Amino acid sequence: MDKHINVFLEQQKDDSLRILRPISSKAGAVIKIAGKEYVDFSSNDYLGLSNHPEMIKTAQEASAKYGTGSGGSRLLSGDRTLFHDLEDLTASFKGKPSSLVFNSGYQANTGIISALYSKGDAVFADKLVHASIIDGILLSGARLFRYRHNDMAHLEDLLKKESGNFKKSLIVTESVFSMDGDAAPLKDICALKERYGCSLMVDEAHATGVFGKNGSGLAEETGTTEAIDLLMGTFSKALGSFGAYLACPERVKQYLINTCRSFIYSTALPPGVIACNIKAIELVRKEDGRRKKVLMLSSLLRDGFKAKGLKVLGCTQIIPVLAGENARAVKMSQDLKNAGIRALPIRYPTVPKGEARIRFSVNYDHTDKMIKDAVNAIGNG
Ligand SMILES: *Cc1c(COP(=O)(O)O)cnc(C)c1O
Repeated sequence: MDKHINVFLEQQKDDSLRILRPISSKAGAVIKIAGKEYVDFSSNDYLGLSNHPEMIKTAQEASAKYGTGSGGSRLLSGDRTLFHDLEDLTASFKGKPSSLVFNSGYQANTGIISALYSKGDAVFADKLVHASIIDGILLSGARLFRYRHNDMAHLEDLLKKESGNFKKSLIVTESVFSMDGDAAPLKDICALKERYGCSLMVDEAHATGVFGKNGSGLAEETGTTEAIDLLMGTFSKALGSFGAYLACPERVKQYLINTCRSFIYSTALPPGVIACNIKAIELVRKEDGRRKKVLMLSSLLRDGFKAKGLKVLGCTQIIPVLAGENARAVKMSQDLKNAGIRALPIRYPTVPKGEARIRFSVNYDHTDKMIKDAVNAIGNG
């Protein structure tokens, strides 16, 4: 094989080589890896919907009725009434005129940004946005400006200096950040967007299903839905299924159907997945106790860590505990693992040097006891 592969693999120290660890069984928050059981704090299945009996029944019934695959892209033979039902429902859930379904969040972000922006345009992105957003900007050929995380003064500075030099400008942020577990100041960003005549795209991957009175996300909770031009999110996290959506004006949807390469050149999601996405939105609306419990347990875990003198970031169901150097994060995670708790280290270069952390995600299936055990086990190694 190519020499560069060997060189790369040998250069990675033991603690930085990424490896796959298959889960052999899962029951609620308890998973089994290599024959040992752990309480899992690493899953994005925030509401526990991936194991909801109604979701499983929906997947089975839709597969029996429509088959397991969709047979082509939406523009060929893959389109079904079910997709249109989901898009109508998603639009109303998110409070936008229309929506378009994508095969994954990664494909949505790379496809949407590269279809709508190109050379001569500028994109202003929060320093911590997801890799799929960065890849979309690179693919677009637009000029990328990164502002310090949630730093409105820095964003305004860049907008003031640069936005006038480009044909059109986009600001892009996540609403709930996956690595810091904090929230973007959406109202302030909306004000800047208006002042400088830009468009705004918000990725609600980690907020959908968890925040907002109806569980539709942080845009709903902060009353910023109307001001956000492109409201993107996924069905793959709290919604317990797969795929992604963009909620947007009808004409943007029509434009993307005609120009977005990740939409055009990929087979449509299977009917069972689409049916589950519909069911998931219904369940989020109906079972609001799920998100309330997640946020309640999140406060419990966050306060428990703080009471132990640990440095904790954010304000959501994602709870990063600062460890410092990579090696310390690895050791803390290993100690937790020995205590039967799975919470993974996030290291440089994913996060800045010296800010390695253990990331806990709280799920509906966690119990008070699991939360207390995690607080007791951390940092005691
Ligand atoms: C997970 C995630 C994505 C990608 O979504 P997938 O459906 O897993 O491809 C995009 N953006 C953010 C912020 C995410 O956390």
